[in-house]
Amino acid sequence: MNYRGRFAPSPSGPLHFGSLVAALGSYLDARKQQGKWLVRIEDIDPPREKKGAVSQILHTLEAFGFEWDESILYQSQRLSAYQEALDQLFAKGVLYECTCSRKEINAAGQYGSEGIIYPGTCRLISTPSSATRKPKAVRLMTTDHPVAFTDRVMGHQSQLLASDIGDFVLKRADGLFAYQLAVVVDDAYQGITDVVRGADLLTSTPRQIYLQNLLALPTPTYKHLPLVVDENGHKLSKQSQSQPVVVAQALPALKAAWVFLGQTEADEPLTTVSEFWEWSIAHWDYRLIHK
Ligand code: GLU
Ligand code: ZN
Repeated sequence: MNYRGRFAPSPSGPLHFGSLVAALGSYLDARKQQGKWLVRIEDIDPPREKKGAVSQILHTLEAFGFEWDESILYQSQRLSAYQEALDQLFAKGVLYECTCSRKEINAAGQYGSEGIIYPGTCRLISTPSSATRKPKAVRLMTTDHPVAFTDRVMGHQSQLLASDIGDFVLKRADGLFAYQLAVVVDDAYQGITDVVRGADLLTSTPRQIYLQNLLALPTPTYKHLPLVVDENGHKLSKQSQSQPVVVAQALPALKAAWVFLGQTEADEPLTTVSEFWEWSIAHWDYRLIHK
């Protein structure tokens, strides 16, 4: 199968070193295999969007010498596809509406690895849509049939969705679609065969595979890259205002990302960005990435 990879930033701020690592890893992995590399803007959460972030991100990618194939997909343009997927799941009887407030969930739920596990309160009371004016989220019923996969970097992974995560939200009470649904619909729509991204999403992958199975969509292969953390061990995120990568420092930033990904340092001086790309595509070896 022809390799199709992607980089899927959320426009919640400019690119920082952690997102550069994800962009670089996904790019080199695709180019090494003569694959396609797509850019998808995950702009489905307007409240978390930073003005100007989309153009900032694209400008930075371009200035760093990333070249994307095909036109950029904007998730804000894909809402009807997400609704269709949701309708399909409704028809399968695996969704239900939830009117619980955050307070109610916090009071009744237990902590799992990803925060509060929704206690399933609304699963049993079937509240017809018209019966209440309370805002409703849409949740997916989970089971404890293990969802397992082999990450090409992090190795074998398995999760019990019902006990580790709980019934999770696919459409929020404010009407916004959840990342987990959008990413699954669009990875399939774009024919993505290989997902390369930060390890912060490793524990989201079983939810995505579960959704792929319910929607009869293919499961790509996954490579999760080690997370870049700050001095305090916290994940860098666009919201926490980690230092953006600057275009004037493209070459040293790319070299630092290369070393961060466990790759062997060049045995010849790479003095321009284009030399970096030529050399790094030829020498990329994902098996060197540290777990
Ligand atoms: N939009 C997500 C982020 O910026 C990445 C999604 C993905 O790669 O699956 O963290
Ligand atoms: Zn509920």
